[in-house]
Amino acid sequence: MRTLEDLGDVSGLRGLVRVDFNVPLADGEVSDDARIQAALPTINELRDAGTRLLLVSHLGRPKAREAQFSLRPVADYLAGLLGTEVALAPDLDAVPDGDVVMLENIRYEPGETKNDPELSARLGALADFYVNDAFGAAHRAHASTVGVVEHVERSAAGRLLQREVQTLSGILADPGRPLVAIVGGAKVTDKIGVIDAFLKVADTILIGGAMSYPFFASQGHEVGGSLCEAEGVEPAARALAAAGGKLRLPVDHVLGAAFSADTEPIDCDEIDVPEGLMGLDIGPKTAELYAAEIASAGTVFWNGPMGAFELAPFAAGTRAIAEAVAATDAVTVVGGGDSAAALAQFGLDDQITHMSTGGGASLQLLEGKTLPGLEVLS
Ligand code: AMP
Repeated sequence: MRTLEDLGDVSGLRGLVRVDFNVPLADGEVSDDARIQAALPTINELRDAGTRLLLVSHLGRPKAREAQFSLRPVADYLAGLLGTEVALAPDLDAVPDGDVVMLENIRYEPGETKNDPELSARLGALADFYVNDAFGAAHRAHASTVGVVEHVERSAAGRLLQREVQTLSGILADPGRPLVAIVGGAKVTDKIGVIDAFLKVADTILIGGAMSYPFFASQGHEVGGSLCEAEGVEPAARALAAAGGKLRLPVDHVLGAAFSADTEPIDCDEIDVPEGLMGLDIGPKTAELYAAEIASAGTVFWNGPMGAFELAPFAAGTRAIAEAVAATDAVTVVGGGDSAAALAQFGLDDQITHMSTGGGASLQLLEGKTLPGLEVLS
C-alpha cells in the first residue's frame, strides 16, 4: 500500500483527499465528530507539507440534491477545528481556490456510486495528487474511492487508512495471545465471514446478541419470539461443528415480552425461550464468564452488541462487555458501528487501543477479502 511518503515532494500542489465525513447530524449540527477527528492527522500533515486540499466525502444516501445531506455543517465544523476558512464547493464546476476546500456531498453526483469514468476523470482533473483516507468507504468501488486513481499521477493512502489496515491486519497476522473475538449484533449472516476468519486464528470466540439464536436453534433449542434469522441457522451449525470448542454461546439470558424500553426484564437460566417472550440481552452469568475471558486476553476484537443495548433494561450485558474491554491491558480493537456507539454511550470510548472508523470495511478486511479502495493504492 502506497503511503504519504510515496507521494514525494508535494509542496505547492493541490491534493484531492477522500475523507469519510459521513457523520451523524442532529438539528443540522455535527453530533459525533469521531470521523472528523480521525482525518485530522492526514489533513494537518498535508497542509504542513505546503499543499492545498480539496476534501471529498459522502454523507448519507441522498437520492437527489436533498438539503439534509449537505456537507455544510461538516465544513463549518472543520473550519472551527482547523481555525481556518473551509469553503464549500457546490459542485465540481465551481471549486474555489483556498487552502482547504470541501466539495459538496459526492453522492449528489449520480456517477459516484457507479464508479462512472467521466466523473472519475473530472475529479482527477481537480487535483495534482490523490489521497484516500476514507477507510469507512474503502470497501466500495466508487468514483471517488477507485475510479479517480487512474486520473492522477500520484496517489496514496492517508494516515487513518494506513493505521486501520495495519492494525486490523496485525490482529490476524501476529496477535498477542490469547486472541479473543467478541461477535454480537443482529444477524449471523452479516458476520459469518468474520467468525470463519477468527475460527482459524482466534483462541476464543464469544457470541452474543440476537445472533446467538440461530446457534441455539441449530442445537434444537426453542427460541420463542427472539429475533432469529432463519438463513443464519445453517451457517451457525457449520461454524459450531468447525469450532472445536473455541466458540462460546451464552449460558443465560434476559428475556422480555417486546422490543421496548417499557418491557420488564426477566433473567433466565434456561436456553429455551418460552412462546411470547424474546431474548434481549446476555445474562449476568454469561457476562461474568465473557468478562473473565477478556481480562485474560492478549488481544481483543469486538464487533456487535450483546443485546438490545439501546433499551435501558437490556443494556447491562453490553455494558459489562464494554467495561471489560475498556479495563483490560490487552490490545483492544473495536470494529465500528454499534459497538463504538455502545462504548460512547457508556463513556468508555477513549479506553480502546483502536476504534475502527469502518464497520463494513473492517469486517471485509478481517475476512481476508480485498477492498477495492485499497487495491488501487497497492
Ligand atoms: P448489528 O448491526 O448486526 O451489529 O446489530 C446491532 C443491533 O442488534 C442493535 O440495534 C441491537 O439492538 C440489536 N440486537 C442485539 N441483540 C438483540 C436481541 N437479542 N434482540 C433484538 N435485537 C438485538
